[in-house]
Amino acid sequence: MKPLVFHPIYSQLNLPVRHRFPIQKYQGIYDALLKKGVSSAAFSQPKAVTEQQLAEVFCPQYVRALCHGQLDEKAMRRIGFPWSSQLIQRSLTAVGGTCQTAHLAAEHGIALNLTGGYHHGFRDFGSGFCLFNDLYFAAQQMLKRIAVDRVMVIDCDVHQGDGTAKLAENDARIFTLSVHCERNFPHRKQQSDVDIGLEKGTTDAEYLETLEQALILAFRQCAPDFVIYDAGVDVHEDDDLGLLNVSTQGVYERDKLVLDWCQREGIPVACVIGGGYQRDIGALVNVHLQLFRAAGVVA
Ligand SMILES: [Zn+2]
Repeated sequence: MKPLVFHPIYSQLNLPVRHRFPIQKYQGIYDALLKKGVSSAAFSQPKAVTEQQLAEVFCPQYVRALCHGQLDEKAMRRIGFPWSSQLIQRSLTAVGGTCQTAHLAAEHGIALNLTGGYHHGFRDFGSGFCLFNDLYFAAQQMLKRIAVDRVMVIDCDVHQGDGTAKLAENDARIFTLSVHCERNFPHRKQQSDVDIGLEKGTTDAEYLETLEQALILAFRQCAPDFVIYDAGVDVHEDDDLGLLNVSTQGVYERDKLVLDWCQREGIPVACVIGGGYQRDIGALVNVHLQLFRAAGVVA
């Protein structure tokens, strides 16, 4: 049984009508997995990380101001959510979820979080629906383990993993690979260890071929003993914010490529679902489910 991490709070956030963030998708994935026969025993519920833990990794003033609703309006606009205590509790639990997923992956070879991928979170500001960078935070937690000296973050969300790249730029123990759409948010890119910026409209064959080359390149430069995989599905052809043309089958093959790669190399992998912004929640959930198919959680 592959360990899965979920908390109902992932979808518990009241947003203004017509806000574009599909907050219901997390609960939707959970419900769909149960419906497909996944045992509820496969799931564990994460604990929220504390403000103190975050302040050890990110800028303490930023962490404090955001947690207590004291960030100015401009900084909140950059994040893209109105401030609420619900938003903070949800975000702290999401970061806790990615950490728990990483620890479970270290024990079981793979584990999957039903949220995560807040890769536009920087040390002292948030951006693009990301408050705290769970990928970087979890990488730091894993590096405290005796068996982990190098972590690779493989980020296949359609948007560049700019926050992760910047946070990890001076840390040789964290290797960042981002495969994204070049002409898409964020417009000012940061430098990952390996960046692949794809053209708008890229389709399956080219997408998968490029990803494979990127993996070859990354693993030639870094021999990680732990991988964190951001399986964002905003690469999908029907996504509202992505500009690529990857099909549902293409998403499945991408996830299979990454997960099989890690398995072949014998490297534990913690997966997060990442971005995905179709307004049709049912259709969006189906694309996110490809990760769980590729991991062998569901058929
Ligand atoms: Zn994205």
